[in-house]
Amino acid sequence: MKALSVDHVNKYFYEPEKFQVLKDVSFEVDKGEFVAVVGKSGSGKSTLLYLLSTMDTDYEGQIIINDTLVTGLNQNKLSQFRNEHIGFVFQFHYLLPEFSVLDNVMLPALKLKKRSKDEIEQKALDLLNLLGIKGHEHKKASKISGGQQQRVAIARALINDPAIIMGDEPTGNLDSKNTKIVFDIFRELAKERGQTIIAVTHDDEFAANCDRIIEMADGKIIL
Ligand code: ADP
Ligand code: MG
Repeated sequence: MKALSVDHVNKYFYEPEKFQVLKDVSFEVDKGEFVAVVGKSGSGKSTLLYLLSTMDTDYEGQIIINDTLVTGLNQNKLSQFRNEHIGFVFQFHYLLPEFSVLDNVMLPALKLKKRSKDEIEQKALDLLNLLGIKGHEHKKASKISGGQQQRVAIARALINDPAIIMGDEPTGNLDSKNTKIVFDIFRELAKERGQTIIAVTHDDEFAANCDRIIEMADGKIIL
């Protein structure tokens, strides 16, 4: 089963001058596949991920996620779709620093309103436990270490059981120990829960251990 399909996508930037950043990009990702996206800086990886995440809608071509044609949906529908089906992990975590660790993780689920507050809290605690953050739930997000914050951001990305988890250098700021923890969690989510993972990475070892590598150069997929 397909988790994602990208069909002849082109994207341009117009400032400071017209520039084609993505050039006829097409690929598919299966459900439960763990894919690394690699390529030199400036090759278009972040731009592509931003399109896949449905946050950037200014492109040519089509993107289908979880059997939904997301191309052309209005902003309201897209924001709902994202919250329900896509989990994001960025290099910088974007946690709310003044909120507790637990509240940060619960927030996307409270917004989705599909579960009771008690259920959401239990699920958030389970995820924090899985990610090795037990005992820090009630601390402010700003009061834990960088590696812990990144794992909290992953817990937050997982709270709504997204079909697809997208990461833009999700381990970019982590030491090798935390990188391995995050990698192993992604591996398990793909294998045990059938969640699809698409992660941009500069880490050769991380990429080599994924199911597949998509390599970009100059706005095209070359591998
Ligand atoms: P990567 O993530 O692979 O390093 P990016 O997708 O960030 O690459 O960028 C690809 C190219 O697009 C680069 O040449 C970059 O300078 C350019 N670019 C990125 N964002 C913008 C923008 N908002 N406006 C203009 N050019 C951009
Ligand atoms: Mg980038």
